[in-house]
Amino acid sequence: MKILILPGDGIGSEIVSQAVRVLEKIQSSPGEIALSFGVLGGAAYDKHGHPYPPETQQQAREADAILLGCVGGPKYDTLPRAVRPEQGLLAIRKDLSLFANLRPAILYPELAASSSLKPEVVAGLDIMIIRELTGDIYFGQPRGRRTNAAGEDEGFDTMHYARSEVERIARVGFETAMKRNKKLCSVDKANVLDTSILWREVVTEMGKLYPEVQLSHMYVDNAAMQLVRAPKQFDVIVTGNIFGDILSDEASMLAGSIGMLPSASLDANKKGLYEPIHGSAPDIAGQNKANPIATILSLAMMMRYTFNRNDLADRIEGAVRKVLASGKRTGDIAQFGEPIIGTIEMGDAIVGAL
Ligand code: NAD
Repeated sequence: MKILILPGDGIGSEIVSQAVRVLEKIQSSPGEIALSFGVLGGAAYDKHGHPYPPETQQQAREADAILLGCVGGPKYDTLPRAVRPEQGLLAIRKDLSLFANLRPAILYPELAASSSLKPEVVAGLDIMIIRELTGDIYFGQPRGRRTNAAGEDEGFDTMHYARSEVERIARVGFETAMKRNKKLCSVDKANVLDTSILWREVVTEMGKLYPEVQLSHMYVDNAAMQLVRAPKQFDVIVTGNIFGDILSDEASMLAGSIGMLPSASLDANKKGLYEPIHGSAPDIAGQNKANPIATILSLAMMMRYTFNRNDLADRIEGAVRKVLASGKRTGDIAQFGEPIIGTIEMGDAIVGAL
């Protein structure tokens, strides 16, 4: 397993260090996992003057999978947009054709009280949101600013999906549903948007190839409402880039803390970039306060989706569950009055449980 580690910025190196300990622990023989280390985002700008420099590009192309911490921070906020840390993230996703973003929203029973919803609505929640990542209104042309016929300044963007783009993300949706509970909900806005009419047609056609999967369609406004009304009705959701951006953030809040949620971005051959969904948390960086669990669970996703090692994924997830059940909490997931441990101590506990 050739894994590139990109700690990134802020709390990145602290959380990634704990994930590396987990990798070292699960390796059954020396050399089974080959790690290399590189820079992305602000760290790459500091070293090479670019957030995704050629050195990192080379490493990323050679790796089977990449573990990223997080990028960004106030230090880089005044840089020109082209060299901002976030551009490094967009560039690596584009360079590696990572078109499928998988974000689970899981609420561990022990953390039900951390959710903003009532425990009975969310306890046991386990949803997978699959978001298309390289198309839609974020990339459609033309886009820009202009002066209209009435002489008024206006901005415009283009929502766009080609049949092949919908097919490949729908396939990821159906394949993921087959590995889970065989239930897929496709989210669109087909009552208003032509792009969504095509989307719905293509997903419906693809559904004929997966007769075992129970396929449903839902408008995005209703999906946003259902996610907070009765989120457990969903198993796998597949949707386009902009709807997925919003719905996956909404779903992440159901799960309590941002420090708990992993993600995967995959290409057509299951090569993937794995990262926690949170940012670089400059407010707690360097203080041994960050929760490393989202990063460690990203490794579990890596084992499952890139390396087909469900055994190792189950072991990592099992260790996290055990540690949570034993009452260990970093600050972000602790209830009032509960004792708090640091990043390193959480790493110790998970490695111990492994
Ligand atoms: P953030 O996710 O970094 O932080 C939001 C809040 O959550 C903060 O209070 C932070 O302390 C807390 N938090 C985040 N991760 C945590 C963890 N693992 N454990 C405990 N608490 C945690 O979002 P932000 O403050 O809006 O952004 C900070 C920087 O991160 C910005 O530069 C932003 O551009 C960047 N960012 C990067 C990514 C990414 O790398 N994928 C994603 C979002 C934001």
